[in-house]
Parts: sequence; structure tokens; C-alpha cells
Amino acid sequence: MRKHIFNAGPCKLPDRTLENTSKAILEHLNTGQSVMELSHRGKDFQAVIDEAEALFKELLKIPENYSVLFLGGGASLQFCMIPYNFLKKKAFYLNTGTWATKALKEAQLWGEVIEVSSKDKEFTYIPKGFNVPKDVDYVHITTNNTIKGTEILEDWDFGVPLIADMSSDMMSRPVDVSKYAMIYGGAQKNIGPAGVTFVIINNDFMNNNIADRTIPTMLKYNTHTEEGSMFNTPPCINIFAVKETLLWVKEMGGVEAMDKLADQRANFLYNAIDSSKMFRGTVNKEDRSRMNICFVMHDQYKELEADFIKFASERNCVGIKGHRSVGGCRASTYNACTMEDVKVLVNAMEEFEKMKA
Ligand code: PMP
Repeated sequence: MRKHIFNAGPCKLPDRTLENTSKAILEHLNTGQSVMELSHRGKDFQAVIDEAEALFKELLKIPENYSVLFLGGGASLQFCMIPYNFLKKKAFYLNTGTWATKALKEAQLWGEVIEVSSKDKEFTYIPKGFNVPKDVDYVHITTNNTIKGTEILEDWDFGVPLIADMSSDMMSRPVDVSKYAMIYGGAQKNIGPAGVTFVIINNDFMNNNIADRTIPTMLKYNTHTEEGSMFNTPPCINIFAVKETLLWVKEMGGVEAMDKLADQRANFLYNAIDSSKMFRGTVNKEDRSRMNICFVMHDQYKELEADFIKFASERNCVGIKGHRSVGGCRASTYNACTMEDVKVLVNAMEEFEKMKA
């Protein structure tokens, strides 16, 4: 029996992705070869990567002058590639959590970094109304903070190039890609399995803003745009699974439908948290993430947290223990998570509260 999966990433994927990837592992179409055995330079795999790229462009209405890349190294390699390529003198980083901090630390290796942060309140809110100097090379933001559970749901515009880590909320809402110089993320939440990184980059930004330093070939963006993500062997099976996941998003009604479902799931779960005497949310209400719903127990029930996690797991809800750095509970409700999954979790919360409070 399939569990109710609330893992933060890798996480629940659509049945379509699992079924069609399983089939393609045995035989891809009628090629007599597994998708893992195809040459990445052959026409059969080329059709797979072309379709994955076309789906990205279609679903997000990506403008003409952008490239879509599938790379290795995770979002973490992007933390280093971005400043390596584009930090000439000074960059602005909005530090809203653990991953944003990691991105910022890499940038500090290459130049001056202006930081605005929500560290003062343990990253429980998204800073607003701050000024961005016009002479920075770019602004870096993390639209969804997977560990702390805050999210930026608007496409900002600071009048300077904007780069966004969308690892954990990509494809959960329509995005105005034209507002961004670059968007990137690890695939292992809404896009597919771990092992492939997506990059959407404005070609003019990429070509006209390269820092004057020697950049190793593999770490240059234009190496990968010129070779259509095939400078080296791409993570083929992962790209196949991404294509299937994006086909599922399309079949479900696109990012507009994902947006509505994200609202429904998150509202249902946050309502249950807010109306409970036992649980409480941990972040500023207006900045709550729809993807990672973080909650703890009120002080008088604190010692019951482990019991609750066990109780939920007996009801087949897995992955609700908070990140090891923060504790508490976190239910990650990515695109493939259903209302049924969320209802089972809310029932478990209500039953546990009735029993113990
Ligand atoms: N950014 C965010 C927002 C993340 O959630 C994660 C991983 N959970 C990362 C970056 C790092 O991604 P990766 O493990 O692919 O390097």
C-alpha cells in the first residue's frame, strides 16, 4: 500500500511518473532498449530531453530569449556557479533560511555581498520594504524556504537582474519568467527525482554579464546552453522522469491548476493547525509556505511530539518530522500530494488531540 508521503525532497511523485518511468526502464517505447541504455546522443533520447524542455517552456510560458538546462550538481552547485559567472563586484542576497545562507556564503567567496535577512527571528518571516542598491550585479532570493516554511508568492522586480532559487516551489504556481534573469532548482520536489537540476536563464543576461575571471568550462553557463545540456552526459533517466512529471502537470491543468490545489491543501492544513489547542504554526501567517507546512506543539504538550509522529506514522503518514536543525513537525505538500493525503494527516492530528489534550 502506498503511504501518505510528506517528505521534504525527495518526495511524493505522481503515479504517472512512477509507472511510465518503470516501464521505460524495462523498455523505452519499442526500441528494444531501456531508457538507461539509450545513447544520450541518439534520436530517441534527444526526443526525451527536447520534450522535457518544451514542456518547461509551455507550462511556464517562458519567453523566447531564455534557455532551459538540465544539469548535475544539485541546486548547491548553482550556489557556486552563479557568483562564479556573474558576481563582478557586488551582489544582494535576501537571506531567508538555511539554503539562502548557503547560497550567500558561496557568493562571499567571489565578491561583496549585501545581505538583508530574517535571521533576527529565526527566519520565521520574509523581509519586505528593503532597498536594493541599483549598482549590484544581481539580487538572489529563495522563493520557498524548505526548512523554515516561508514562501514568496509574488514575482518581484528590483530594477536589477533577479536570480531565484525555486527548488521547492517551482511549478506550483504561474511565474512571470520575464521578471527573472535566472531561475534554478534541484528537481527533487515538484519536478521529478533527485539527480537533475533545472536552470532557466535569460540569454542576454548570461552573455552580457560574465565576470572577468577564468571560469572552468563545466562551470560556465554558456558551455551548457551551447551544447543543449549535452556538454557532458546528462542524467538521462532523471530527465525522462521530469518529462513524465511535467506531462502530469499539463494533464492536470498546468501550473494554474497546481496553484489552486496548493491553496486547497495548505489552507486545509493551516486551518486545522490554527483551530487546534495542541498544535501551532511556527512562521508569520502572511509568509506561510504552501509547500512546507511547519508546526510544533504548544509548550504544555511538547513532550508528546515524538508520540504524535509515531501515531501519524501508524496511520501511514510519513515524513512529518521537522528538519533535524529545527525539530517539530513539517508536512511537505508538494504538487503530487493529494487532499486525501492531507485529510488523513489532519484526522490523525485531531484524533491525537482528542486522546491527549
Ligand atoms: N535550495 C532549496 C530551497 C532547497 O530546498 C534545497 C534542498 N532541499 C537546496 C537548495 C539544495 O538542493 P540540492 O540538494 O539539489 O543541492
